Amino acid sequence: MLPPIEVHRASPLKAKPAPSEALGFGKYFTDHMFRMDYSTERGWHQARILPHGPLGLDPGAAVLHYAQSVFDGSKVFRGQDGKLRAFRLADHCARLSSSAERLSMAPLPPELAREAIQALVKLDAAWVPSAPGTSLYVRPVVIASEAFLGVRPADKYIFFVIMSPVGGYFSNGAEPVRIWVEQQLTRAAPGGIGGAKAAANYAASLQASVAAKKRGYAQVLWLDALEHRYIEEVGTMNLFVRIGDEVVTPPLDGTFLPGITRESVLTLLRDWGVRTSERKLSIDELREAHQKGELREVFGTGTAAVISPVGGLGFQDGELKIGEGRLGELSKRLYDAVTGIQYGTLPDRHGWMTLI
Ligand code: PMP
Repeated sequence: MLPPIEVHRASPLKAKPAPSEALGFGKYFTDHMFRMDYSTERGWHQARILPHGPLGLDPGAAVLHYAQSVFDGSKVFRGQDGKLRAFRLADHCARLSSSAERLSMAPLPPELAREAIQALVKLDAAWVPSAPGTSLYVRPVVIASEAFLGVRPADKYIFFVIMSPVGGYFSNGAEPVRIWVEQQLTRAAPGGIGGAKAAANYAASLQASVAAKKRGYAQVLWLDALEHRYIEEVGTMNLFVRIGDEVVTPPLDGTFLPGITRESVLTLLRDWGVRTSERKLSIDELREAHQKGELREVFGTGTAAVISPVGGLGFQDGELKIGEGRLGELSKRLYDAVTGIQYGTLPDRHGWMTLI
C-alpha cells in the first residue's frame, strides 16, 4: 500500500493540444508527475504528485554512469461512454517490477506502481484525449539516484511517472510498415538484459535503427545474437508471422521483451481457435515460406502501435514483399478486437481493463 500522496498542484495549468492537433508520440506532457524516493534506510518514501518538471539529479547519480534505469509504457483510453480505462495496468506494473529486479534495483512492489499511476491519471484525467485512435501514454521509470561512482547496485532510487497524450502511432492506424532485417548488429544476448525494459537496451538499438531509417525502413528486426538466424523482436514490437494456417511468434527466452500486447494477441488467437505456436523461427524458414507463397501475414504487436502490419522485410540482397502492401485479414481482426476492448466498445472477457 502506498503511503498518503502529497499533492502539489501545478499553477497555472498548461494549455492542452487542440483535439484536431496531431499529438504524435511523447511530444506533449501532462501537468503533473508522480515521484517517490527510495533509500536503504527508509525504503520507498515521500510519495508525491508534483508539477511535471526537472528531477534535480546529482551529476554523480549512478544512473548517469552505469545505466541502472528501467521503465514501462502503457495506455489509458477514453471510451465512447466517456469512461477512462487502463489496459492491463497490473501486468505493466509487474513487468516494471521484474525489470527493476533484473537490474539489481530496489524492489518496487507492482501494487505501489499501480496506485501511483491511478492517482496520477485521476488528477490529470482531462488530458486523456478523445479523438479516435488517441490515448494517454503512461511512462513509469525507476532510476538509480545515489551519487557514488563505485560499480555496485545503488542504494538510492527515484520512481517517477510522467504521462503524454498520444495519437495513433502510425498516421492512418494500421498502415503496413517496412522493416529492416539486421544481420550484423545485435541488441541482446542470452543471459543479458534483453528481457527487461531497461533503458540501455534502447541505447544499444539506436545505431541499427538510424541506419535502417536511412535505407527507408521504419524499424529493425533483431535476430539472435549467436547465429544471426532466429527472429527475436522488432524495434518496439514483438513479431508474429502467419505461415499457412499457423501463426508463429518466437518463444520468450529472456533476450527480448515479453510484450503485453503479444500475450493479449496470443490469448485472442487461441480464443478464436487459430493455431498458434511459440517456437523458434529462422529467417531461412521465413524466406522459404515466402517462396512457396505460404507467408500470408507478418505483423508487429506493441503498446504504441497495437498491431502493425509489415509490408516488406529488407535484406542486403533485396526486399521480401508481404501482402501486397495491404492490411492482412488477421492483423485487421486483431486490431479491431484489441482497440474495441480498449475503447470499451467490445466486452472485456479477460478482465484486461481497469476503470480509473
Ligand atoms: N519489444 C520492445 C523492445 C518494446 O519496446 C516493446 C514496447 N513496450 C515491445 C516489444 C512490445 O511490448 P508491449 O506489447 O508490452 O508494449
